[in-house]
Amino acid sequence: MFAKLVAVSLLTLASGQLLAAECKVTVDSTDQMTFNTKAIEIDKSCKTFTVELTHSGSLPKNVMGHNWVLTTAADMQPVATEGMAAGIGKNYLKEGDTRIIAHTKIIGAGEKDSVTFDVSKLTAGTDYAFFCSFPGHISMMKGTVTLK
Ligand code: ZN
Repeated sequence: MFAKLVAVSLLTLASGQLLAAECKVTVDSTDQMTFNTKAIEIDKSCKTFTVELTHSGSLPKNVMGHNWVLTTAADMQPVATEGMAAGIGKNYLKEGDTRIIAHTKIIGAGEKDSVTFDVSKLTAGTDYAFFCSFPGHISMMKGTVTLK
């Protein structure tokens, strides 16, 4: 009887945690030019959303640097292409590019950076994308962002 009560209260606790929207995600990047996620879902009850980018590899940022950039799916490729010329000092992003909704700086092994943005900048039904704008990385390092 006691065991059953404990089981029930644990279940209640677990479901309660599921109900609260997680307005934050940690994305890891690697020396293999990958992110550890391909899809990020943002709950529309979140006012702001935070992405923390980590780098679990061992290569420095000038060799295997990564950032996390959010745009619409349609803007992803042109933003990446135009960002290449900006150089690493500008995080391979064109200065003042209004198509960029949010981005972290470029990080290397063992570093981390995070960005928090207003969820009101996103609309349900629009396809968003995240990617790394380090030259050549977008082919491997990209994923979808969806407002739910
Ligand atoms: Zn990268």
